Amino acid sequence: MPAEEFVVTPYEVKGRIDYARLREMFGTQDLDAALLDRLRAVAGGELSPLLARGVYYSHRDLGAVLDLFEKGSPFFLYSGRGPSGPLHTSHLVPFELCRWLQARLGVPMYIQITDDEKYWARNGLSREETARWGMENLYDLLALGFDPKRTHVFFDSRSIAALYPLAIRVARKIPYSTVKAVFGFEPSTNIGLVFYTALQTVPCFWPSWAEGRTVPCLIPCGIDQDPHFRVTRDIAEGLGYPKPALLHSQMLPGLLGESAMSTTGDRADNALFLNDPPKVVERKVRQAFTGGRTTVEEQRRLGAVPEVCSVWALWRTRFARSDEEFAQVTRDCRSGAMLCGECKSKVLERIHPFYAAHAVARERTKEWAESTIVTTAPKPL
Ligand code: SF4
Repeated sequence: MPAEEFVVTPYEVKGRIDYARLREMFGTQDLDAALLDRLRAVAGGELSPLLARGVYYSHRDLGAVLDLFEKGSPFFLYSGRGPSGPLHTSHLVPFELCRWLQARLGVPMYIQITDDEKYWARNGLSREETARWGMENLYDLLALGFDPKRTHVFFDSRSIAALYPLAIRVARKIPYSTVKAVFGFEPSTNIGLVFYTALQTVPCFWPSWAEGRTVPCLIPCGIDQDPHFRVTRDIAEGLGYPKPALLHSQMLPGLLGESAMSTTGDRADNALFLNDPPKVVERKVRQAFTGGRTTVEEQRRLGAVPEVCSVWALWRTRFARSDEEFAQVTRDCRSGAMLCGECKSKVLERIHPFYAAHAVARERTKEWAESTIVTTAPKPL
């Protein structure tokens, strides 16, 4: 594939992504300085590192959601996880922004665990495995620091009674030709996946249904997931609900140098899994793809290229403690003042304590995770 070409779909990310061009191709809006200033103001004067460091860079209708919030109509957050195995650090990016927004703005969070969809989508996975990974992933997500009182979980196979009344109405609005065009379904695609689009749409409208009033929805997600929610946005108003707003992040480069931290197939070393033991974390980071030069002399003279470096992405998304420190890492990388070995040692000093603290927080969530799962419909529909 020529360097200037790339592919980004909900199922495939390939090539060196030109994010500005991708935003134009998808027809989304630039997350510009004026909008970031508004977010900073409503959040009490600070920005999440993921916003301040440009990881989130695009949106749909964020301004409209902020307009309503400023007038006293809060939105809710929605994000989901398809449980096919352990989480890795890039899976945390949308949830980390949600946690930050919840803490700053006091808004509710809805998490969808799509154990049904992963069973339909992955032939090699049993029902027991997707259900088990669903709970394991949920503990990891809640451990980021979500508020137990404001966090609600649709665990699809267990929440179907809560989801189904609205799914019936949603499904009638989505023609097969739409999902076929958006998701590339083949004649051999199982009918579970075809119906699943309705189930993924339901949480966007569920709080409005439950509360009997308009509750706007904001979905932080990777920009590769935008096509899913274009379908939702197209049918929202026909059902009497607001279109969900979206905040899009860039994808984190994988540790093996790929443009996204996907681990499908035999690529476990492309990501840092949250259940990786310390020695495995150490090995993966030590061998991670960087933007460094081939010799020390060259790197001191020319500097390195952080934008292509998987280690820089770790600093950027989680492990730099402040925007100043992140700027310093970036400067030292670019100037050649810091070599990659030293940089990796420094980031490992942050990663190991994060893993240890996360393991403790994760255990604690087991006391209350069950209480977040929504199992009943709020009312007949
Ligand atoms: S110095 Fe650090 S950030 Fe820069 S290319 Fe090397 S590993 Fe990546």
